[in-house]
Amino acid sequence: MSKLSLDRILQSQGFGTRKYCRTLIDDGEIVINGAPHTDYKTAIDTEGLVMTIFDDEWVYREHVYIALHKPVNVECSRKPSHHPGVLTLLPEQFTWRDVQPVGRLDHDTTGMLLMSDDGPFIHTQSSPKRHVPKIYQATTQDSVTPELIAQLLSGVKLHDEPAPLAALSCVQRGEHQLEIVLEQGKYHQVKRMLAAAGNHCSALHRSAIGQLTLASLGLAEGEWCYLDQAQRDLLV
Ligand code: URA
Repeated sequence: MSKLSLDRILQSQGFGTRKYCRTLIDDGEIVINGAPHTDYKTAIDTEGLVMTIFDDEWVYREHVYIALHKPVNVECSRKPSHHPGVLTLLPEQFTWRDVQPVGRLDHDTTGMLLMSDDGPFIHTQSSPKRHVPKIYQATTQDSVTPELIAQLLSGVKLHDEPAPLAALSCVQRGEHQLEIVLEQGKYHQVKRMLAAAGNHCSALHRSAIGQLTLASLGLAEGEWCYLDQAQRDLLV
């Protein structure tokens, strides 16, 4: 059980500075159990805490684990330069609580992106030692051929990688469609592997991370959801 004063709770949830959170409390904006809670000094139990803030229900979460269906023309970088950043697709509280993308997708890649404010989770998920398979649907400029698939499976050499990189699996899904499973997460890896194998990736979508598929989450482009423990257990 963890007990915190209400101003600290609100700050931890990303509602702003402690000073601002105290103003919200003084103004009666925080409703708990049907009544405004105007005491910011007494520690209250965070376990199962549900508040109504500006008429919206807010469930206390020590950390958040999010899956976002990333659309095109959104950047994963913390300092986006040409397009809006992914955090603009989430409630602004998540920016305050330092939610970050777990790994990156290119600005023109769509699909599943994990986000969290839990440092150890981000670290573990992005560790190259984990070998979590990531499933991509690639659209190719030239037709998919058996030779292309054979090359991607046996490994292609990228100029900044000491050893050839191979796909874990590679299945043709259409004349110009390829499903590629990779367990590394190198920079522009799918696009560079396709280019090294003599084709060109004209569109890319990440449909799954580990056993967790975007389809199972039912998210349309730009939508996000919290991931519970059972869903996070599928990220292997
Ligand atoms: N590989 C790429 O080339 N781009 C991505 O966004 C993800 C994997």
